[in-house]
Formats: sequence, structure tokens, C-alpha cells
Amino acid sequence: MRLLTALTVSIFALSSHAALAADGHSHGAGKVQIALDGKQMSIEIESPAQDIVGFEAKPTTDEQKAAIEDALAKFQQDDFFTAPAAAGCVRDNVDAELHRHGDHADFEIEATYTCKNLAELTELSTIWFDLFPGTEELDVEGISEYGSFDMEVPAGQNRIDLSALQD
Ligand SMILES: [Zn+2]
Repeated sequence: MRLLTALTVSIFALSSHAALAADGHSHGAGKVQIALDGKQMSIEIESPAQDIVGFEAKPTTDEQKAAIEDALAKFQQDDFFTAPAAAGCVRDNVDAELHRHGDHADFEIEATYTCKNLAELTELSTIWFDLFPGTEELDVEGISEYGSFDMEVPAGQNRIDLSALQD
């Protein structure tokens, strides 16, 4: 329980940092936070709406409204980061929202998983860059009870090493 609290505080600290940075979010740059807590893995993604639907202003046309609904439905449905099959991760929940701030807007997706075999959770593969070519890089932060990392993943690099989070 004490560990869980410590992790929650750390994750909150990471989130606060990201929220501050979001005021000046950079188009083309998404943020990903991966947290491991026991067998639970959470993946939070924050992406400028510009990179997903091509606009951030409040939608005015039916076409723009449909583009946002389609994106949110896609975020609910698909896994963008996939663990090795041997890790036995099953998605428990996913939540996707569009947040507006001033003239800008971000899609925020949070997915949680339960993984049976943490020893095999050595990396994640991602289809994000294939689906969203507007993203030029992902700033990926990871944290577990064993360690943490912070790396810039450029478009085209479809694997994220999680060894820093391993026992
Ligand atoms: Zn923006």
C-alpha cells in the first residue's frame, strides 16, 4: 500500500509536469506516460488534436464534429501500444477525451491493462506513427517501482524499450 501511494505521488508529479507543458504544446509532439504498478500497466497518451484531426478550433461543421467523434471512437477501440504476447496483458479499461485549452486542444487517452507475466513485458510496440503521420515524435516517460525513463521516440521508431522498468 505504501508503494502504491509512492507511485501515485510520482505519477501525479509526472502528470502535473505534462499539464504545465500542455499550455505550450508543440504540434507534432505527443506525450506518453507508462506506469507499472504490480501487474497493472497504465498508458496515458496526450496528443495535440492538430496531429490527429488537422484542426484544434471548436468544430463548426458536421465534418469536423464527425472527425472528432471518429477519433474518439478509434481511441476507445484500438490498442496503440502493444505488449509482447508472452506478457499476457489484457486491457481492463480505456478512456478517451478531447480537452480544449485556449486556442488549442488535446486528445487524452488513458488505457489500463493487467499483465500476467511481467518478466516478458520488456517492450511495447506501437502503431501510433503509422496511424497518425502528423506525429513527429512521442515524448515517452515510464515509471515503475524499479526505475524510470524519459525518452524521445521519433516517428518510424515503433518499439519502446521497457527494460528500465524491469526488476
Ligand atoms: Zn495546439
